[in-house]
Amino acid sequence: MFHNVLGESIMKIAREKKLVSFYLHNIRDYSNDKHKCVDDKPYGGGAGMVMKPEPVFNAVEAVEAQDNLTPTKILLTPQGETLNQEIAGNLSKKARLMIICGHYEGFDERIRSGIDVLEISIGDYVLTGGEIPAMVVIDSVVRLVPGVLGGNNSLQDESFVNRLLEYPQYTRPAEFRGMKVPEILKSGHHTKIEEWRMKEAIVRTQERRPDLLEEKTK
Ligand code: SAM
Repeated sequence: MFHNVLGESIMKIAREKKLVSFYLHNIRDYSNDKHKCVDDKPYGGGAGMVMKPEPVFNAVEAVEAQDNLTPTKILLTPQGETLNQEIAGNLSKKARLMIICGHYEGFDERIRSGIDVLEISIGDYVLTGGEIPAMVVIDSVVRLVPGVLGGNNSLQDESFVNRLLEYPQYTRPAEFRGMKVPEILKSGHHTKIEEWRMKEAIVRTQERRPDLLEEKTK
C-alpha cells in the first residue's frame, strides 16, 4: 500500500533530495507465533479481533534499536488527538518518527499504556487500518520539512498556517465562461495584492471555519 504513495510526487522528491527516508516494517515479522499471528479474541467477548501486545512491543523495540536517534512514536487511533497543521509542523521538526498502524478492532490497551506514544487520529471516522492514516501523517509532515517544497513561500500562505484558510487562487485565462479574475491580481501592485489576499483569507475563514479565528484570538 505504501510504495506508490511514498514513491510519487513530493514524497519521491523528498527522498531523492535525501531529506527524508522511509522504512516499512511488518508487525507480523515480530510475532513469536508460528503462524505469524498478531491478533486474538477480546477478553470479555465482543466482535472482532484485537492486536496482541507481544508482536507490537517486539516490533517497536527492534525497530527503535536500528538507529541511535530515539523516535517520537505515534500510535494511530480514531481516539487520538486530531491531526492538524500545527501537529504536523511539530512532527516535521523531529529527527525520527515511528508510526504504528493498527488493524482489526484496534490495539490491546497495554500497547497504549506501556509504550510512550502520541495517539493521533486523522478525523472523526473509522478506517479499516492505520495504513491510510499513516500516509496522511507522512504526507502532511514531509511537505513541512525544510527544503522539501521548492520555495518556502508556497508554505507561508497555505491553509491553516496562522489559522487562516488560503485566499482564492486564479490562473489563466483571465476570463472563463464569463467568470473574471479579480482586476487587482492583474495589477502587478504587490502590496495591494497582499492586502487583498489577507482580506480574502479572513473572509473565507470567517465563512467556512470561524472556529479557527476564535482559537487565533484566544
Ligand atoms: N475499534 C476501534 C475504535 O472504535 O476506536 C477502531 C479500530 S480501526 C477499525 C483499526 C485501526 O485503523 C486503528 O487501530 C487505527 O490504527 C486505524 N484507524 C482507523 N481510523 C482511524 C482514524 N480516524 N485515525 C487514525 N487511525 C485510524
